[in-house]
Amino acid sequence: VAPHARAASVWLDGIHRPLPSPNVLGIPLDPNSVEKGLLPTEDIERLAGAGLPDSPLADGDLSVGQVVRSCAGDAVFERLVDVLLGGVNAGRADDLSCEVMAPQLLAAARSPEGLLAALRSLHAQADPSAPVFNAHPSGMGHLVDTLVGRLGNRLRLHSPVTGLERNDAGWLVGTTGGVELADAVVLAVPAFVAADLLGPIQAEAAEHLAQVPYASVSLAAFAFQRNDLDVPGDQSGFLVPRDAGLFMTACSYAGSKWAHLGTGDRVLLRVSAGRNDDFRHAGMDDDTLQRALAGDLAVTLGVEAPPDAVRVSRWPRSLPQFAPGHADRMAAIDD
Ligand SMILES: Cc1cc2nc3c(=O)[nH]c(=O)nc-3n(C[C@H](O)[C@H](O)[C@H](O)COP(=O)(O)OP(=O)(O)OC[C@H]3O[C@@H](n4cnc5c(N)ncnc54)[C@H](O)[C@@H]3O)c2cc1C
Repeated sequence: VAPHARAASVWLDGIHRPLPSPNVLGIPLDPNSVEKGLLPTEDIERLAGAGLPDSPLADGDLSVGQVVRSCAGDAVFERLVDVLLGGVNAGRADDLSCEVMAPQLLAAARSPEGLLAALRSLHAQADPSAPVFNAHPSGMGHLVDTLVGRLGNRLRLHSPVTGLERNDAGWLVGTTGGVELADAVVLAVPAFVAADLLGPIQAEAAEHLAQVPYASVSLAAFAFQRNDLDVPGDQSGFLVPRDAGLFMTACSYAGSKWAHLGTGDRVLLRVSAGRNDDFRHAGMDDDTLQRALAGDLAVTLGVEAPPDAVRVSRWPRSLPQFAPGHADRMAAIDD
């Protein structure tokens, strides 16, 4: 299914400010769509231009911040792009690889026409109704469950790999459930797990992998009575910049974003906490976490009534922070 509501806002200056539309990763493509107060006048005027860099961009990978600050200005980066891209990755877009996280921006910024002009022409050719992502109506876990069912007893569950060893017959894969012999091994695990497994076999590759930092996040799904809280049906939610003084980082209006979750009498929200440099959530038990998030919902959505139900989920070390040069470091491992 494709998202029903696509518009979103940013919690800036203590109010919900709509994300300009159209935008590419937060970069407004039409200066007239920028609501008053969102950006300084000179930055809005700059958006009407080509988006040529302040000075020639260096070769190779750059951070998203270097590219956007240079071509569209600091305010566009800090109040929009970092909130969006840094937000979904629970990191800082000043420290994220543009080549990996936003290759379309790097290519556009390097084009002779300039970042903004190139993005505008790409947008003009794109289908405006095409969704940027899709989901499964039964939840993404349905894909995993189906795959598990199809693989049957070829799959070993609940037996993490603890070590790898190569001998003449192939690979000896040590697991908590015993040793398996394999012709080949594909490591589809987090980088820090791959680093541990590869350490004894390929120390240099392991060292590169161990350097990929990960952010941890915690999420809470809230169900409120519609009498206690209503959210706009045409909005998918809002993002919260790191300097907003709140604990939460984002809120999805799940029932507005996804038509199949829009139950009649309840409003469903998915609220996030945690960034690469904000670990407060990790030290909180579920009750404390949900109280802290409910406090932020009172500030941002004005809901004072208690929720009907809350479900907390933890995602420790789940979001890799790909620093500039990441693709080169991974290519070096392949070599
Ligand atoms: C809260 C949250 C929301 C997200 N939302 C989106 C979204 O809306 N859209 C989107 O595109 N992406 C989203 N992502 C990112 C997305 O989940 C990841 O990009 C994706 O899951 C990465 O897939 P992967 O297979 O590389 O790694 P993973 O999904 O992390 O899979 C790695 C697997 O390795 C297993 N493993 C670990 N150690 C071992 C071991 N020793 N032996 C055997 N197995 C092991 C783990 O159990 C896990 O199943 C989100 C991530 C988070 C945390």
